[in-house]
Amino acid sequence: MRYLSTRGRAPALPFCDILLAGLAPDGGLYLPESYPRISREELARWRELSYADLAFAIFSKYMDDIPPADLKALVDKTYTRDTYRFARQPERAGEITPLVWLVPGKLGVLELSNGPTLAFKDMAMQLLGHLFQYVLEKRDDSINILGATSGDTGSAAEYAMRGKRRVNVFMLSPKGKMSDFQRAQMYSLQDANIYNIAVSGMFDDAQDMVKAISNDAAFKAKYKIGAVNSINWARVLAQIVYYFKGYFAATRHDEEQVTFAVPSGNFGNICAGHIARQMGLPISRLILATNENDVLDEFFRTGRYRPRSAKETFVTSSPSMDISKASNFERFIFDLTGRDANKVRDLWQQIEKKQAFDLSGTSSFKRLREFAFVSGKSLHQDRIATIRMAHERYGIVLDPHTADGLKVALEVAGDGADTNPVIVLETAQAAKFSATLEEALGHKPSRPAELEGLETRPQKVISMAADIDAIKDFIAARVPA
Ligand SMILES: *Cc1c(COP(=O)(O)O)cnc(C)c1O
Repeated sequence: MRYLSTRGRAPALPFCDILLAGLAPDGGLYLPESYPRISREELARWRELSYADLAFAIFSKYMDDIPPADLKALVDKTYTRDTYRFARQPERAGEITPLVWLVPGKLGVLELSNGPTLAFKDMAMQLLGHLFQYVLEKRDDSINILGATSGDTGSAAEYAMRGKRRVNVFMLSPKGKMSDFQRAQMYSLQDANIYNIAVSGMFDDAQDMVKAISNDAAFKAKYKIGAVNSINWARVLAQIVYYFKGYFAATRHDEEQVTFAVPSGNFGNICAGHIARQMGLPISRLILATNENDVLDEFFRTGRYRPRSAKETFVTSSPSMDISKASNFERFIFDLTGRDANKVRDLWQQIEKKQAFDLSGTSSFKRLREFAFVSGKSLHQDRIATIRMAHERYGIVLDPHTADGLKVALEVAGDGADTNPVIVLETAQAAKFSATLEEALGHKPSRPAELEGLETRPQKVISMAADIDAIKDFIAARVPA
């Protein structure tokens, strides 16, 4: 399997060569040259597999430059009961992503946030940690991951990379802007290869500094600077597995279809659902839910894609979806335009010039139906009302992002009215967002016993001014050039 760029002007490469690459050299995103189609026989066999074995079966089609025995070992190390141990019902932790029915056979929640940081990003990031170490070991190389986080991504990356050989993580976070829980989660890590840097300013300022440092080609090469952001293909690939797993959990035979509802920001999670469907998984519909930052809902309703500026981006109570440009969206548009790289280049040039493109009335827009996407949005009051309703009606405590997903799922599919089961992807646990949960339910959410007192553990973090040169010096002093 080789990977090509959505902009069509980069050489096609095998998996291990794009794993550490980020953007393709032409500015596009990597995608496999085609999606392997899964036969009905194969699907029937996969139904019986454990999570790790299913992941191995799927990855084998995409990572054919890793020897099968090595890949099997990587996958077995990643998807363990111990890593994903924070299931609602601990006895089900071995399922890795347990499905919880709210209305039996009709409406369910797929738990994806049982990993170390209680958000679904662990599903992919844990794999990335093992993959990075494996490939760097083979190539006798190393990497220094530089990132900025407003919460979930940074902690997922740190928990995946902690203690890994040949990897350091330098993570910038906006000082005083994350929840106490999120801060404690990251800063309490004492591993020597993890560097938490709290910088003054907002998340966007931190993000801009990361961009500026990564754009310094000489510095980047000298200090082997890399990233683990949501455009990384291996992250999307890892997420394909749980769509299969969720489908099998919700159905008895492969004639049945399932609808998935996905709380979305950078379009990484639902992009994996789209690819699972292209592989032949019987997905009836993909319901995309946004919060107040509705750039994707606007596109799916109107055909117009208008990324917002940082100033136009709202700070909401489902903060991990406060996204103004959906960085994975280009992958979907590539498929939507019939994999026409010239068209994709043209559309992203239009974004540069006119801050938007419009596909309404085009054949591409008509294909949206074929691709089974529907969308909706959820606002703060909806989120609060949905958390309350789910607690009262179904006895389940949802986090604000998953509540957005459920709100839109019920709006689009109706409570049990869709003839196919509707599965809402749970993207975080409520414990991470106690202020919003308290507003909705009048009390703080419970958390796994192991994480009691997290906020009182010693923290390892350095405070710095928003100064690019100071951050470069900090990295240079800790990394052999
Ligand atoms: C990252 C994240 C999302 C958005 O996922 P995308 O892949 O960016 O669409 C939703 N909810 C939570 C809790 C997240 O951490």
